[in-house]
Amino acid sequence: MKAYVNPNTISLVYNKARALLELAYPPVCSLCLARGDSGYDLCRGCRDDLPQLERCCERCGLALESRAQHCGGCLRKPPPFDLTVAALSYRAPVDRFVHELKFQGKLARARLLGALLADAVANRATPLPELLIPVPLHPRRLRQRGFNQAAELGRVLAHRLGLPLDHRILSRTRETPPQHELPAAARRSNVRGAFRLRRSLEVRHVALIDDVMTTGSTVREAARVLKKSGAERVEVWVTARA
Ligand SMILES: [Zn+2]
Ligand SMILES: [Zn+2]
Repeated sequence: MKAYVNPNTISLVYNKARALLELAYPPVCSLCLARGDSGYDLCRGCRDDLPQLERCCERCGLALESRAQHCGGCLRKPPPFDLTVAALSYRAPVDRFVHELKFQGKLARARLLGALLADAVANRATPLPELLIPVPLHPRRLRQRGFNQAAELGRVLAHRLGLPLDHRILSRTRETPPQHELPAAARRSNVRGAFRLRRSLEVRHVALIDDVMTTGSTVREAARVLKKSGAERVEVWVTARA
């Protein structure tokens, strides 16, 4: 017989455990060592000082000079995703947080970056997606790293926003050199055909989760596969936009 545990019970136990833990070890701001806000690892002041994206393209998150809604690139050739939510600009200290998460395995950074992204998403009037899908790593890279940073962020988002997360539905079938090692022009062909859906998509509105968006080639390719598989609306949620 399959054991059934009410998710509300899990959440209650988790919140109680966290409250107790925070009583014993109060959160400390990772930037100024003052007392941090619960669940952020940053104090209010340092959180307010993080680099924000001022004006940007609604569709791809690219910084814009004018008050235009969309960038020239999206007007000429709209990407397969419909909207980008980027919590912050990819500048110090956000770049360091992402680096520490990805390359030093500091998983606490996923909690911080995920919480900031959840805040950016929560301030909206339009409906939230039905499913969160982290951008997958190739199995070999996943074995090397031991975790997928996008899935770690997804877990925090799912918990904070109460949305389902599926880190298995999309897979990376081709191992590709890391995008940051390639010039912009080569990035698109690098990820072409790299993703595949493991089973059919049962929802129409999804959000792809990733840590950083630079040229957007990776999420573009992943979104293309999701749209081809029946998604009507694909959002891209990233902690930072370069
Ligand atoms: Zn601080
Ligand atoms: Zn754009």
